[in-house]
Amino acid sequence: MMDFDASLLVRENIRNMKPYSTAREEFSGEAAVFLDANENAFGSPLPAAFNRYPDPYQLELKKKIGSIKGLPAQNIFLGNGSDEAIDLLFRIFCEPGKDNAIIFPPTYGMYEVSAATNDVLLKEIALTNMFQIDLETLESAIDDRTKLIFICSPNNPTGNSIDRESVLMILNNFNGIVVVDEAYINYSRQRSFIAELTEYPNLVLLQTFSKAWGLAALRLGMAFASQVIIDYFNKVKYPYNIGLATQQLALQALDQVSTINEWTRQTVEQREWLAAELQRTPFTKTVFPSDANFLLIRIDQAHELWHYLVVKGIIVRDRSRVSLCEDCLRITIGTMNENQQLLEAIKSFYA
Ligand code: PMP
Repeated sequence: MMDFDASLLVRENIRNMKPYSTAREEFSGEAAVFLDANENAFGSPLPAAFNRYPDPYQLELKKKIGSIKGLPAQNIFLGNGSDEAIDLLFRIFCEPGKDNAIIFPPTYGMYEVSAATNDVLLKEIALTNMFQIDLETLESAIDDRTKLIFICSPNNPTGNSIDRESVLMILNNFNGIVVVDEAYINYSRQRSFIAELTEYPNLVLLQTFSKAWGLAALRLGMAFASQVIIDYFNKVKYPYNIGLATQQLALQALDQVSTINEWTRQTVEQREWLAAELQRTPFTKTVFPSDANFLLIRIDQAHELWHYLVVKGIIVRDRSRVSLCEDCLRITIGTMNENQQLLEAIKSFYA
């Protein structure tokens, strides 16, 4: 990857466009009177400076995230969920109707939705029955219009991590952008690819506040990449994509690392407990190994069981009609009490 230049992969219109320039970029600093952004000078009905536009680049928040992740702020993009980063990747790199991207189904659904929204052809290379990447088929699918490869690891809905060697093989050989979606990395036995960012200028990592951080409603996702790529994210994003409330609340949440770590530890403990309990029952065919905060299980009469659980007020995800997930349910790990209720309900279905 010595002479990789991300700019050469960027759509020409994006490379050449002039980004919107905010009032706060044209003047940033101390002043007594700000009359440059058509804000309401009288104040805000809320007890904070909500009448003023927020920092378009969320620097304070990025610095705090960066200190936890060991990354400088210029290697971080923040979006309205990682879903925003996924969409921006298509908009930055893929020429509608011409370029293509690759995914490995069964996987997270938004790659497909964003590709379709942006009129980008998506090549689907099914995971093997061990839920790993078929590197030979991948190699034959890549062409000179392939801009993005999405690797979800740990993968949703299968729960497993993609073999590290496969990811490295792709990073080393693919002359496009390799997106590794680490939404569930906190629950994984595998380590993050963060340490590989400096070595691979074609790597984009996605993480989120929606899972281990317990902030799905805040809508805050992260992309980590080379500064060249982050600068393109900043060029294309809406100027004030992260509101002040989100920035302030995320800063507060970041002070609670130890609580988050404890919840993560308990989730993993519960996952192993539930996996073992489910495995013990005769109606479970397979509990797939999970590095995430959910289990994929293959079980007799999956769809009927799903329906029975709904009637009992317990909602899991029916994946029984997804290719390679036939007869499977995806179960998010709950609290100990919730997991016990679930297990009892499943047992009563078969009793
Ligand atoms: N990636 C994966 C693999 C996910 O499962 C999800 C959410 N289910 C996301 C990304 C999106 O997360 P966010 O809430 O940050 O948009």
